[in-house]
Amino acid sequence: MPARDRVAMQVLPGLLRRDRTHLTWITLHSPDKSEHVLWNTVQPHEADPVMPERVLALAAQYNGPAAGLAPAGWGSVASQYLEIDAWLGGLLAEFHFDYVVLVSDHGMARNEEGGLPGQHGLGFTNAHRGILAIRGPGVRRGADIGRVDVRDFAPTLAYLLDLPVGEDLPGRVLEEAFTRGRVRARPVHRVPTWEADLSGWQPPPPAPSAEPPRIKARARERRTGPAWWR
Ligand SMILES: [Zn+2]
Repeated sequence: MPARDRVAMQVLPGLLRRDRTHLTWITLHSPDKSEHVLWNTVQPHEADPVMPERVLALAAQYNGPAAGLAPAGWGSVASQYLEIDAWLGGLLAEFHFDYVVLVSDHGMARNEEGGLPGQHGLGFTNAHRGILAIRGPGVRRGADIGRVDVRDFAPTLAYLLDLPVGEDLPGRVLEEAFTRGRVRARPVHRVPTWEADLSGWQPPPPAPSAEPPRIKARARERRTGPAWWR
């Protein structure tokens, strides 16, 4: 797993112990990175589908977080899912969250035309399928809501935060993910837009004292000696 994700995962519990917020959001890049370089291990050829048995075989070989510089740090495609899953399990055991939403902004497609074995982007329509899972009170447990649009994520998140949903927001609240009782008790509220009208906005005038603080500090140092001296 790249250091960037590992650091983010290690820092988050410390931040949560200090401050709780209405929304906790973490973006992890390691599945994307490993899938780009190792997608051929789970889908050898573009013409064939992804092979779940290969993912499971890689998962069976998992013996803990993959560390070190690339390529060792990439682990395997399955190792990245398992490492995140284990970390998320620890996080959920320590902290209470009303709702947990897991979402991928895209999937991955096999690329055999040179470059990375896994690719996504406009030309790789197979990669447009990702995942979305929601857990929490009033969520229809175990329900498969079929294919949804990634743009439904933001309105659904607003709904879960008890915020009115902007009518100019693309996508919709995934009401079918929730029990009828929840939707009845907490119906979706809407506002025309959350966009502020900034047409008359002007940048604030510069403060009367335009001297930057650093220069002031230097001027003081010239008078009294450097900070470490005093
Ligand atoms: Zn990518």
